[in-house]
Amino acid sequence: ATPTALLVGTGRGAQFGILIKGPEALESTRRVDTVVLDKTGTVTTGRMTLLDVTPGAGEERADVLRLAAALESGSEHPVARAIVAGAADEGERQSVTGFANVEGLGVTGTVDGRQLVAGRARLLRDRGLEVPDDLARAAADAEAAGRTAVLVGWDGRARGVLAVADQVKPTSREAVRRLRALGLIPVLLTGDNTTVARTVAAEIGVEKVIAEVLPAEKVEVVTRLQAEGRTVAMVGDGVNDAAALAQADLGLAMGTGTDVAIEASDLTLVRDDLLAAVDAIRLARRTLATIK
Ligand code: ADP
Ligand code: MG
Repeated sequence: ATPTALLVGTGRGAQFGILIKGPEALESTRRVDTVVLDKTGTVTTGRMTLLDVTPGAGEERADVLRLAAALESGSEHPVARAIVAGAADEGERQSVTGFANVEGLGVTGTVDGRQLVAGRARLLRDRGLEVPDDLARAAADAEAAGRTAVLVGWDGRARGVLAVADQVKPTSREAVRRLRALGLIPVLLTGDNTTVARTVAAEIGVEKVIAEVLPAEKVEVVTRLQAEGRTVAMVGDGVNDAAALAQADLGLAMGTGTDVAIEASDLTLVRDDLLAAVDAIRLARRTLATIK
């Protein structure tokens, strides 16, 4: 491969809204056969909305929402932002102390003298909180509807469920169709629950789904696919995608993503759109074909 021909490809990349870190980044594209897609912020907009609050028996909806929002004000996660925005009408927000983020599971902290836990049921149980049947059911119903269920609890048990949801980007389905047309196998990868992941996968036409993956495990998923003999491209945006993007044979970051994701990637997609990922792979292949 002559560097000049590759640089032509890099220049054309800029026209397509694709920033290429180094021409050598394109080398592996020819062999890519599997494209791992992060869900939140990549396939979906990542702008979540609070849709529903279900208080537990004996709890007030307003209290559940107010406390959850106070706790989540410590987090930058799309789920947290949705809850904070959804509580904007609940009056002045209380402050949180001792806030801690539990990667891929939720958050903890103290608000109004209460030790709060919010996130996946698994996190509440890990912290010794009981999840009453009615709330477990409310969470399951929300997930069946394709929403992410956030349980919030204090004093020994879950006290409410907040349902948040995100929207699939309008171009994601067409992008998946084009990836398949190029002979590539799409895989949806997410830390979110399996039901939500399957709903999104069905919406965009992806069959292979790997869900409930903790941030630290995303890189292992990529390694495992490579061990199966696949050449893997990964498209992601989050802090939790960075290691997997670096591990992938070709890492593509959404330009709207976090700095760490962009740093870890070979290519950055300026357009906030999965079709740009397809363009990037096609462009790279074409560039290499010219060189041959
Ligand atoms: P993704 O892989 O879709 O980007 P993450 O790994 O960031 O997702 O998060 C996985 C799951 O952990 C979320 O779907 C949510 O259930 C839970 N979670 C993460 N952060 C928070 C938070 N701040 N509050 C409540 N739940 C959270
Ligand atoms: Mg993401």
